[in-house]
Formats: sequence, structure tokens, C-alpha cells
Amino acid sequence: MSLHGTYDPQNIFAQIIRGNAPCFKLYEDEDVLAFLDLFPQSHGHSLVIPKNAQARNLLDVDGGSLAKVMAVVQKVAAALVEELSPAGVQVAQFNGAPAGQTVFHLHFHVIPRFDGENLGIHAAGKADPEQLEQLRVRLASRLQG
Ligand code: 5GP
Repeated sequence: MSLHGTYDPQNIFAQIIRGNAPCFKLYEDEDVLAFLDLFPQSHGHSLVIPKNAQARNLLDVDGGSLAKVMAVVQKVAAALVEELSPAGVQVAQFNGAPAGQTVFHLHFHVIPRFDGENLGIHAAGKADPEQLEQLRVRLASRLQG
């Protein structure tokens, strides 16, 4: 998939937004959804996406939607820091397959980073669903209030 193209409404994140695919939801409002990454690069790896913008990447999105997404990126980063006490937090976003993008609905990675762990771009495997659910409950209670 290149940087340019047509938005595919069957992509996995569009299915999650429609409720046709499951996710470990951390936060949702009218415009933005945040959930845990199923193949995490670290404990707490989260994703934040716009719900109403059919944007494949950063170049497609309108400024208003982007601002709303970024506000939630900041909230999620704060919740991860409070709950997991990482040594750092990485915010990442890829545009086009050569840049590392694999799902073509705009998303921001919020990745807690811990001392002594390698910085990866993609994860080795799928997370344990029970562990994700336990983490989801802890983070969602901070984010949803
Ligand atoms: P990209 O490489 O496009 O920037 O990131 C896509 C991310 O989506 C990856 O970190 C990948 O682990 C994650 N991902 C892929 N499929 C699913 C899924 O079905 N559910 C969730 N929660 N994450 C997914």
C-alpha cells in the first residue's frame, strides 16, 4: 500500500469503530477511540484513532479531527505514565508501507518504554488476552473517569 490511495472501509480499525471487530477499549468519545494494541511492542502499547475521519494517514485528515485525536494521545500518555511508571513514552505514527504502516486508517501509537527493553517497530507476537483485559480495566478507569 502506498502513501496515496482510496480509504478501505473494511480495514480492521474501521471494523473496530463500527463494533464489527473487538478491541480492548481504553477510551471513547464522539470523535476518538483509544484501545490496546493486540501485538504490543511493550506493556501498555496503545493506539488512538479518529472515528469520523476516513483518513488513511496524516496527510488525509482534517485539522479539527487531528486536534481531537492528539488531545486523546496526550490523555492516554498521561494515564500510561501514572499507571505503569515507564521510563519514557514514545508517540509514533507511520504513513505508507515503506514507512512501516500496516493498517491504513490513521492511528497514533502511544508506547510506554521501560529501561532495558529494545525499541522495536513491530511486535513479535500477540498479547495474552487476559493480561490485556487486566491492563484495560486499570487504564480505562483513569481515562473514562
Ligand atoms: P502500523 O504498523 O500500521 O503503524 O500499526 C498497526 C498496529 O495495529 C500494529 O501495532 C498492530 O500490532 C496493530 N494491530 C493490527 N491488527 C490489530 C487488531 O486487530 N487489533 C488491535 N488492537 N491492534 C491491531
